Amino acid sequence: MKPLLLENVLLIDGTGRPPYKAAIRIDGSRFASVSAAAKSPAPEKFDVLDLAGLFALPGLIDCHVHLVSPVEPLAHEPYWKLNTPPTLKAFCAARNALETLKAGFTTVRNCGGVSYGLPEDIFLRKAIAAGYLIGPRILACGGGISMTGGHGDRQFPVFMPAHPHLGYGDETCDDPGSCRREVRRKVKMGADFIKAYTSGGVSTPGDGPQSAEFTAEEIRAIVEEAHAHEKRVAVHAYGLQGIRNAVDAGVDTVEHGCYLNEATARRMAQQGTSLVTTLGILKAILRRGQSYPNPEALKKAETVVAAQSSAFGIARSAGVNMAMGTDASVSIRNGDNAVELIELTGEGLSPLEALMMATRNAAIALGLENEIGTVEPGKSADLLLLDENPLEDISVIAGKRAIRAVIRNGQLLCARNENGEELLGSPLPLETAIRAVRSRRRPI
Ligand SMILES: [Zn+2]
Repeated sequence: MKPLLLENVLLIDGTGRPPYKAAIRIDGSRFASVSAAAKSPAPEKFDVLDLAGLFALPGLIDCHVHLVSPVEPLAHEPYWKLNTPPTLKAFCAARNALETLKAGFTTVRNCGGVSYGLPEDIFLRKAIAAGYLIGPRILACGGGISMTGGHGDRQFPVFMPAHPHLGYGDETCDDPGSCRREVRRKVKMGADFIKAYTSGGVSTPGDGPQSAEFTAEEIRAIVEEAHAHEKRVAVHAYGLQGIRNAVDAGVDTVEHGCYLNEATARRMAQQGTSLVTTLGILKAILRRGQSYPNPEALKKAETVVAAQSSAFGIARSAGVNMAMGTDASVSIRNGDNAVELIELTGEGLSPLEALMMATRNAAIALGLENEIGTVEPGKSADLLLLDENPLEDISVIAGKRAIRAVIRNGQLLCARNENGEELLGSPLPLETAIRAVRSRRRPI
């Protein structure tokens, strides 16, 4: 196959540089060259795609999703936890992965929530990597690690022993030894990173968002063991003590971080701990109001939502690397990930800054800054083509109609024609793609 040359495209390259007209050469799965010259000297050596009028940006990255989540209407069925066996969850996860890719997200980190003992996210990653399913690159943790009664302990019903086919369950550990053992077990299963919970949360009954979970010693055991295996650690932490314990132990990313203070933010910036903010999820829960099945969670969400905006400002002024996450599951559906970009501009970020959180900053948070996040030679050819300017209106990404093509690892997996009709393939034949992408739904 000839290398692909994308000409005349307005490139937002993810480095923070303003858009410029570029020619991008994709050789196999990588960007071979990116130049400001709009034309190539030897077009006969390439398959050429003239993209005049289109915008290109790096494939987007969502650092916090839950792909193994029920899809509507299943999600709102009574007793769905009891009625959803692992097989059905896996089908839902496949749908969620496809919707995520179609939304322009070429990489996601799946932060827990799988069936007890069954690392469905690892299986999903394998199926996508093998080309059986269409979806984003997945970083999988094989479920999180929680203390008994902690935010990841979803054992249901509570008075019965855990059953592998009931509910979504992260593993519970209650001393440093079992924490180490669980990290080792996850690494053995093929986890890309380790997810743990060091504070309470909103959606679990009985624990408060500000309560600290796991002892400092247990968190250290998790981090030491994960790092010994060269795996990064992400922790769910709302409350300050939970954040502090995790930062002291040397975790790589703090998720949510709603009660972060200045001193801890400074430490995060110094030691290179990233913050994955998830601004939209609590608001989405609050918007559901009385239809949300857990009234206690609604009350908790109201208090936390007030805190998270100030934590966002604190982290920003301290210079913490901040990356985008959605917590996509039920309240924000997988596939609606780009709504978080709108939330970020609501906190005073420019559209370009918001995009940085979902591209370069996100790649740094995942330790993949040499692989993805910017359009530069040598990096994985993950690209999103739009026919509207996201820097003028960031909501065009969430609206999806402007997304004309999604390329992952140099493969064109999804294209939309001028009527908004989707074409999917693993990968799509180039001819089909050219026809779709060249069609114009408005004069340029
Ligand atoms: Zn989450």
